Amino acid sequence: MSDPAAVSQYPPEPRLVLATRNPGKLRELRELLRGTVPGLDVDTQVIDAETAGAPDVVESGTTFEANSLLKAREVAAATGLVAVADDSGLAVDVLNGAPGILSARWSGRHGDDDANLRLLLAQLSDIPAGQRGASFVCAAAVALPDGSAQATLGELRGTLLTEPRGTGGFGYDPILQPLGEHRSCAELSADEKNSISHRAQAFAALLPHLVNALS
Ligand code: IMP
Repeated sequence: MSDPAAVSQYPPEPRLVLATRNPGKLRELRELLRGTVPGLDVDTQVIDAETAGAPDVVESGTTFEANSLLKAREVAAATGLVAVADDSGLAVDVLNGAPGILSARWSGRHGDDDANLRLLLAQLSDIPAGQRGASFVCAAAVALPDGSAQATLGELRGTLLTEPRGTGGFGYDPILQPLGEHRSCAELSADEKNSISHRAQAFAALLPHLVNALS
């Protein structure tokens, strides 16, 4: 007689929910997770917040870390699944870390990448080359339905250009030139950017916590 416990479930039960509705970010997060957690099938066991029926989370935190924890905790509590979230943005040295958590809505229009970038360039037009340091920052968080959670940080340091360059990526990619590079982030291939990005670094640091949460 076959052991019912040994019969694999079809369709497989979701085990992890990604607390974002942004398709670009979902794609990137799935690729970052692929093959990293033993026994986790990224194609069938990882779902997004919308599929999981999770509510929209108001990002009311004042730091990247607080917002990533807020999103992961709310989505885990609402779905009963382990949840992963991230929050990211651009921190400019001469602006004391702004736009920071307001990066996606710096121009007043949420998600208008071009308007956000143009406004920032205009604000920095008098800032000389030596003082245009900035970083992409990402906080990644994993939470369990009981509210326990962990967050990690990643940073990509660079210099702000005076004009956008390149067509790849998104957001402020055309104006950030990583340290040691002669190209903007928008001139790097997706693989090149993923190998150095703030998001990849935050998720690499999160991995042990994620493995723990899923075991
Ligand atoms: P989030 O979706 O709340 O994390 O907002 C992130 C915002 O920060 C985006 O809308 C972009 O403007 C900016 N940002 C974050 N990561 C990147 C990146 O890798 N490249 C360019 N812009 C980024």
